[in-house]
Amino acid sequence: MREMTFHSADELSHAYILLSPSAEERKAAATALASAAVCSAPGPVPCGVCRACRKVRAGIHPDVITISRIADDKGKKKREISVDQIRNVIADSVVLPNEAERKVYVIDEADTMNIPAQNAALKLLEEPPRGVIFLLLASNAEHLLETVRSRCAEIVCGAQEEEPDAETVKLGMAFLKRCAEKDEAQLFRWCASNENMDNAAAVAFVECTIGLLTDMLCRRKSTLGMSDREVYELEALMEKCLGMLRVNTSVKQVFGLIAVSAVCE
Ligand SMILES: [Zn+2]
Repeated sequence: MREMTFHSADELSHAYILLSPSAEERKAAATALASAAVCSAPGPVPCGVCRACRKVRAGIHPDVITISRIADDKGKKKREISVDQIRNVIADSVVLPNEAERKVYVIDEADTMNIPAQNAALKLLEEPPRGVIFLLLASNAEHLLETVRSRCAEIVCGAQEEEPDAETVKLGMAFLKRCAEKDEAQLFRWCASNENMDNAAAVAFVECTIGLLTDMLCRRKSTLGMSDREVYELEALMEKCLGMLRVNTSVKQVFGLIAVSAVCE
């Protein structure tokens, strides 16, 4: 899993979907993000040791509220999270936090929200109250409405990602900087000077760039002044390039496409 530390809680997105088949991994990710949201350290957050961080770990922070399937009369867990439960969240979310500057709602097994519940949640995600962060824990994102998913940053917990080496990250950042500066001539020169790398290096570069763009969308990294739309478009372009490289399109051709497409008006 990517390390979930932030310079400050301001870097957090207002909503996340935390995906994993393992309940433990989902919970660990939720604890890290919730701690980051309420941590009282000046940064980076979460510090892991302040009172707020410790309370989150112990499950007793008053501003970290967990919603899960409720039990019926016989003590058996209901199959779904109901719309009433989400309506309660809506009502509660406008109340200011008790101790922290932010409030976090952890929706456990969010993929068991029925459709009315999801539609109610969507309203919250579209216009989240200030200082409120939603963490949707799920094992199967496909049970969530596309509209809900599009409002959240998705994090796949526990995924073993191969860390790109420092040189590749440097190359990726140099490229993204040129894209952000929207200087076509510079970008063109940069592409021309890199078009002779071999296929494996090009694949590593493109994969690394996609990772960096995802980090930007999840607010784990500065977007360098690019709008979310520009970041999305760039990510789509890089995905396309990755597909081309995988069918052995020449690196030169791929960098040619990048040179003419990466700077959008
Ligand atoms: Zn802390």
